[in-house]
Amino acid sequence: MALTFQNMRQESVVFMSQVTRLKLLLKAEAPDAAQLVRRIHCASETIIRKFFDTDSPMQLLGASDDAKAQVCSAWSALTITYNKEAPIPGTETLFIGLFDGIFASVAKAHDRPLKVLRKWMAKSTKLAQKKLNSKNVVILGGGFAGASIAKHFDGRAGYTVTLCDPKQYFEEITAMPKAVCNPGKSLDDKEACWPRTVLPYKDNVVKHGKVILGLAAAVNTDKKFVLVGSEKQVVPYDYLVISTGSSYPSNVKTKNATVQYRMKQMQLEFDALRKAQTVLVIGGGLVGVEYACEIAEKCPWTKVTIIQRNDRFLPRLPQPAAHEGCMKRFEELGVTALTQQEIVDFDEDIKSYTTAQGSVFTADKVECVCVRVCLCVSV
Ligand SMILES: Cc1cc2nc3c(=O)[nH]c(=O)nc-3n(C[C@H](O)[C@H](O)[C@H](O)COP(=O)(O)OP(=O)(O)OC[C@H]3O[C@@H](n4cnc5c(N)ncnc54)[C@H](O)[C@@H]3O)c2cc1C
Repeated sequence: MALTFQNMRQESVVFMSQVTRLKLLLKAEAPDAAQLVRRIHCASETIIRKFFDTDSPMQLLGASDDAKAQVCSAWSALTITYNKEAPIPGTETLFIGLFDGIFASVAKAHDRPLKVLRKWMAKSTKLAQKKLNSKNVVILGGGFAGASIAKHFDGRAGYTVTLCDPKQYFEEITAMPKAVCNPGKSLDDKEACWPRTVLPYKDNVVKHGKVILGLAAAVNTDKKFVLVGSEKQVVPYDYLVISTGSSYPSNVKTKNATVQYRMKQMQLEFDALRKAQTVLVIGGGLVGVEYACEIAEKCPWTKVTIIQRNDRFLPRLPQPAAHEGCMKRFEELGVTALTQQEIVDFDEDIKSYTTAQGSVFTADKVECVCVRVCLCVSV
């Protein structure tokens, strides 16, 4: 677009748009015919003064001085017969008709950029029309749930998708226990695990819709809008999907905006794990068990302890074999595994964790993987 306008004289664009506006006025249903003549006479005089007067600085590409002088004198002749108090209906077309010849030659002089402009306008009108008729599907949170829904609706006729997430990228969090032990040196390090887990939302998850970077702060269900980000951007919706998921005290999931920052965070995390002589994993569900085993495998010099509130590991899996399988694997890897240890007090600075059963656990590095739900409040 910028290129098209660079190739066109701005005064030509203004001239053509002003004449076009007058023609559109003609087509509009005039409530008062005399009023229409007055309006068109007045507007045509402005055009004459601006573009046709000999001392005007506005130069129309494609319009010769002779042709402009002819229009000027024709306009003056018409004006002599024009009576402002009782204008003759129909005169308005004569006033506008004066510009036809020059309009055509200016348009011809700008033929190529105009073609591009028309094409672009047709496309954008079509797009705007499509957007106007479509329903806004706003999705809060681009985890597995939100990203799948966004991908499903993105580009579908009748829907416009807006995905809001504090991150610019989807992260395959099920791979995190492996990724934290193999973060890689850079984003291009495709041999490493973590770089393969991230994918920018824009163009991968959402191609046609919008991605807004920010946490959804509040939802107004009466007026159907969401406030997003620290600037409280108002995002209206027809359909709202709240898929803000869950988080963990440890860095299993992240709200870091950029992949670059997240990569550094993962590298720091791995560095701390490598240097730790003792690691404490709090939480004996699927995530905790995976973390404890992965760390013990990748950093065998570290003494890993995992504690669990229940009397068994993987309590969501009812089969006794699940717990027994865990205990067997812990033993193979040298992991100390303790059940019925519920943390009731902790001091994060000195990494000291006290359980209801009276034990105190400390470690160089602690991974707390007890899940908590991410909520959105309403306004
Ligand atoms: C290590 C690990 C291994 C797993 N393995 C398995 C497995 O093998 N099989 C299985 O079925 N499940 C597994 N899970 C569970 C599975 O990953 C989760 O159930 C799933 O990720 C939940 O997806 P979600 O989209 O609901 O939420 P989340 O993944 O939590 O995504 C929530 C998204 O919302 C964003 N968000 C949060 N708050 C806001 C806000 N206020 N505004 C906007 N955005 C917000 C977050 O940034 C995030 O992108 C595993 C989980 C972990 C951690």
